Order: sequence, then C-alpha cells, then structure tokens
Amino acid sequence: MKCAQHYDVVVIGSGIAGLSAAIEAKSHYPRVLIIEKLTTAGGNSLISDGGIAVVGSDIQRRKKIDDSVALLTQDILKAGGYQNNPKLVDTIAKHSNQAYEWTKAMGVQYQDRVDFFGGHSVKRCLTPLNKSGKDFIKPMVKYATNLGVEFLYNTKVLDITIQANRATEVHVESKRNNHCVIHINHRLIVAAGGFSSNQKMIEMYNSSLENLSSTNLPSAQGELLVLLEAKGAQLIGMENIQCGPWASPDEKGFGLGPLFADYIALPYGILINPKNAQRFVNERADRKVVSDALISMPYALAITDHTMVLDSGWDIARLIQKKVVEVADDLSIIAERYGMDSTKLKATIDTYNNHIVAKANDHFLKDLNAVKPLINPPYYTMKTVSKIHHTMGGIQINEHAQVITKDGQCFENVFAAGECTGGVHGISRLGSMAITDCLVMGRIAGKNHHKN
Ligand SMILES: Cc1cc2nc3c(=O)[nH]c(=O)nc-3n(C[C@H](O)[C@H](O)[C@H](O)COP(=O)(O)OP(=O)(O)OC[C@H]3O[C@@H](n4cnc5c(N)ncnc54)[C@H](O)[C@@H]3O)c2cc1C
Repeated sequence: MKCAQHYDVVVIGSGIAGLSAAIEAKSHYPRVLIIEKLTTAGGNSLISDGGIAVVGSDIQRRKKIDDSVALLTQDILKAGGYQNNPKLVDTIAKHSNQAYEWTKAMGVQYQDRVDFFGGHSVKRCLTPLNKSGKDFIKPMVKYATNLGVEFLYNTKVLDITIQANRATEVHVESKRNNHCVIHINHRLIVAAGGFSSNQKMIEMYNSSLENLSSTNLPSAQGELLVLLEAKGAQLIGMENIQCGPWASPDEKGFGLGPLFADYIALPYGILINPKNAQRFVNERADRKVVSDALISMPYALAITDHTMVLDSGWDIARLIQKKVVEVADDLSIIAERYGMDSTKLKATIDTYNNHIVAKANDHFLKDLNAVKPLINPPYYTMKTVSKIHHTMGGIQINEHAQVITKDGQCFENVFAAGECTGGVHGISRLGSMAITDCLVMGRIAGKNHHKN
C-alpha cells in the first residue's frame, strides 16, 4: 500500500471518466494516482456496451447522416426536461468527436455501423468492436500505465480532508483493513460513478422506484456523493434516476436482452401491452417516456419482424438460444404464447402498418417515416421490463468540471466527472450519452486550465 505518499493528482475511480482524467492529468503533473476499490479497473464502464454518441464522426459522415452540435444539444436538453446545465451539454456535444478520435488514438476500435436510440434525432451511436466497455478500459489502462499513471486497487476511499477550501488528503482502507493517508499536492478528481445499486439511496431520493432491480455492478453505491456532500459539495437532481425499459425479466442484471429490445425493437419495432394487445407509447421516445409508460405493467412485449432484425445487422442467435427472444411464424402463435386475444393483436398491428403505408400521424407521435411495417415473418418477441440503470443526479459541477459548493462557489482543487456528477442529463439521459460525458468531462477534469 502506497501509504503517506504525496501525489500531484489523485483520481478516485477507474472507469472511463477516471481514466480519461488521469491520462490528461499525466501530461501536466508528474505523479498521478488512481484509487479503485475493486480488484480491477473499469467499474460500470467495463460492463457497459461501450456505445458512444458522437456528432460528425467519420462513420456518420461516410453514411451521409446529417447532424450538428446544435441538434445533439437540443436532443439532450429536450430529453432532460430542460433541467440540464446548458453549458455542460454544449461542452459535451461540442467535444464528442474530439473525444471519439482521442479514444481511437489510444487503440479503441469501432464497428463500421451507427445506431439510433430513442430521443436522438438521428443515428449517432457508435459501437466498439466487441460491443463492450472492455474495448475502452483495456487500451486506456494500457495507455495510462505506459504514461506512468499509478493504480491502487482494492483500496476504498473513506474520507477526504478539506482545509481552507482545498482537498489536502484522502483517507483510504485496503482490503486487508490497512488504513492510510495519501497527500494531494494539486488536484483531487472524483470519478466514482453512480448509485444505481444502493437501494436505500434510490428509495430515499425516489420512493416510486423501490423493489426494482438494477443493471449495475453491486459496487455502484454512491458513497463519494454522500461524502462530498458532507464536505460541503452541492448535489443536484438526485431524484432523477433512469430505468432502462429494455431489460428481460428472465435475466439478472443487464443481460443479453437489451441487444434486441434497445437496439432493434424500440427503434424499429413495437411494444405491446399484453393485457389488451395494444401499443401504449412512442417506442422511439427517450428512455424516461418509455419506462414511465411501462413501469406499472408486469412486462411489455417487444415485437419485430425478420426484416427489422436483418436491417439492424445485429446477430440475435444467442438471445434466441437462451430463450430471451422467442420466434413465431404467425401472430396467432404470439397471441397464444402471451395470453392475448389474437384478433386484437392482429388489428393493432394492421392499424400500425396501415398508418405507416398511408404516412398518417401516429397516436403516440412516433416518426413513422423512420420505420417499416411489421409484415415479414418470422416475428421475434421479448418480454421487457424496466430496471434501474443510471443515476443522472450527483455532484454539481461547472463546465470546467470544478465541484460547486453549497454556497455556490467552487472548491479550489476538487473536480468531478462522469456518472457521479449531476446537471448533464437532467431528468433523462439519452442512450450512449454517458460514455461521451465521461470522456469529455473526464478529460476536462484532468486538464491544467486552472492553477491549483
Ligand atoms: C450494463 C450497463 C450498460 C451500459 N451501456 C452503456 C452504453 O452502451 N453507453 C453509455 O453511454 N452508457 C452505458 N451505460 C452507462 C455507463 O456505462 C456509465 O454511466 C459510465 O460507464 C460511468 O462511468 P464512470 O467512469 O463515471 O463510473 P464507473 O465506470 O462506474 O467507475 C467508477 C469507479 O469508481 C470506483 N469507486 C466508487 N467508490 C469508490 C471508493 N469509495 N473508493 C475507491 N473507488 C471507488 C468504482 O468501484 C468504479 O470502478 C451502461 C451502464 C451499465 C450498467
């Protein structure tokens, strides 16, 4: 254990936000340390899909998708209920392509595809080679290590000393219960993730979400939010807790289901309430709209046809093999399988298809120009439920990633980035925006723009 040592920059958390911050900090400060309570790097970033929303990427340009910083900014603000800090949103949208190019320079590789998620106006989500956060963490840890960033694993931050508005020490405990103090010469960067696995905190801030399971690692406990608040930091938007409306009730955690429900069925298919065989929401709306609509149902049924799966380019064979996704040659089989009135289900799908063909307006204001009729069997179905996925609230920061105190000032040398912060996403985070946020704000937190 690196006890009683002095570091120029101490970063708490080794997810994408912490790694981005540490890598940037290393070009300005000789001694940079990342403290991580788990045995390896990555946190939730590691188990994520690694999807990243980018404006003006080479892939978007090649596929001739018109996009702009203003459009992404507008999408984020709209989904966020305009409760986001516009300066943060603008900063992240403006720097998304730079951040993406930066990851490529570190060795992150991407698939040649671009996906649509609800609430975005255009396709702008890029996927790393193996559709996994590992595709980021592995090269970023390697890059950081080669630069000389030091890592302290199995070590939990318990306390921070703040004197005269400056963080001077962190108090840590190793797995073997050794306690020690690490001194901070210049800067503390908090990148400790969200609190989606802390049921007590979830209930405290939003009692409507009790008893929902989470897609996150058990370590997403939010203890740094509690600690920083006790030290005078302002927390904001803590009640804004995101549920992912695309999880399978038959799987634990995130599971395989989101590949079908989030990447294919919500953008291109439909959701049905099995109680009445009716659609009930704009399936292409942002996660909060969809999740709020389905949260009181035991489950909703996501349906696509074969064309939609083929068009998506995703391989769902494993999901079918594990019976997360079921296949049916006929709509009457689906009706029987899920206890629905077959005539009603056919009528719902006929009406939907006719509206698409007639270019009519959808009852739920879905953009029917972006979808095709469901006509080509086999049909694919998946039960979907909402699971707690992301916490939008957290430590208040400004666009320089400085932590704001309860009296509206900034700590002199405390910065924060990633899911532990609040103010970026407002009431609803758009799909694939978290990693963009971590990269952009993490880099800013590590940069030497303010002397401290
Ligand atoms: C299954 C899943 C899939 C997702 N897919 C996507 C996606 O495709 N695209 C997207 O944009 N977003 C996605 N998200 C959300 C996104 O992954 C997270 O919001 C993001 O990775 C958070 O990164 P972070 O660096 O802020 O925190 P994390 O990656 O969670 O890292 C925080 C680290 O801090 C450590 N830590 C916490 N407290 C302490 C302490 N007291 N002492 C020491 N260390 C501590 C934790 O152990 C953790 O390793 C997904 C989330 C999940 C759960």
